[in-house]
Amino acid sequence: MDFRETTQTSFDHDEYGQAHSWTNGSKSSRLTKRQGRDKTPDTGRMNLILRSLPTDLYNELLPSLKTVSLTKEQFLYQEGDRLDFIYFPITAVVSEFKMLEDGRMVEIAVTGKEGAIGLSSVFSESHTAPNCTQVSQAGTAKRLDVVAFEKMLRSDHRLRVGLSRFLDQYIRQISQKAICNMYHSVKERLCTWLLMVQDRSGRDMLNLTHEQIARTLGVYRPSITCIAQELRDEELIDYSRGGITIRDRAGVEDTACACYGELECVPARHAA
Ligand SMILES: [Zn+2]
Repeated sequence: MDFRETTQTSFDHDEYGQAHSWTNGSKSSRLTKRQGRDKTPDTGRMNLILRSLPTDLYNELLPSLKTVSLTKEQFLYQEGDRLDFIYFPITAVVSEFKMLEDGRMVEIAVTGKEGAIGLSSVFSESHTAPNCTQVSQAGTAKRLDVVAFEKMLRSDHRLRVGLSRFLDQYIRQISQKAICNMYHSVKERLCTWLLMVQDRSGRDMLNLTHEQIARTLGVYRPSITCIAQELRDEELIDYSRGGITIRDRAGVEDTACACYGELECVPARHAA
């Protein structure tokens, strides 16, 4: 299934994207029925936070985890929204943006299968989104109700341990991006960002437009078009209306700024 063509925003799907509708029974019993009938492998463990959980804790969480399809450029949260769900990306990639006063958005973090979105709901008292989060690469995620998450967090400290590695990585990413935005060239930043998105999506073709990249990096679109052409002439990337393909990964890594070494998400790249 090509998730780039998915148009649904939150619908019950099996692990391969097959849609199901359930009309009877409680939410947990419906999910239990699905799990009992579904012979396809559970993709929840493709998310590294969920993968890090002990089996008994993961199995306890499983009935509350719902597979959802996230569409490109879908907003999961706008700044100030109440955080009702935690999203654990499987194949989707999500960007967190800070909205500037003039309406522009600057990306402050990108999260894929190594992490989760909405965790501030359980680590802050406001329970509202501090920034907006938008889907950068369409795909699937496991969605968990915040109430169920908080309940488990209170009853089992191992869940908190499972989150700590990602939260450390997340804070380091925000710090590094602040330095990156200030000191590194747009070409270096573009290469770093492409590598980060590819690591998290696991796809060869990234569904990106020059407009989207410009918005994400906080620069004007003609700059991105010019640099993309340069990278294509150097045979590092290729692009078409469908998106961008990294042709020479080693070459793109050489062109990227040193931040990529700091932000590299090796476990995410190798997670299957
Ligand atoms: Zn940098």
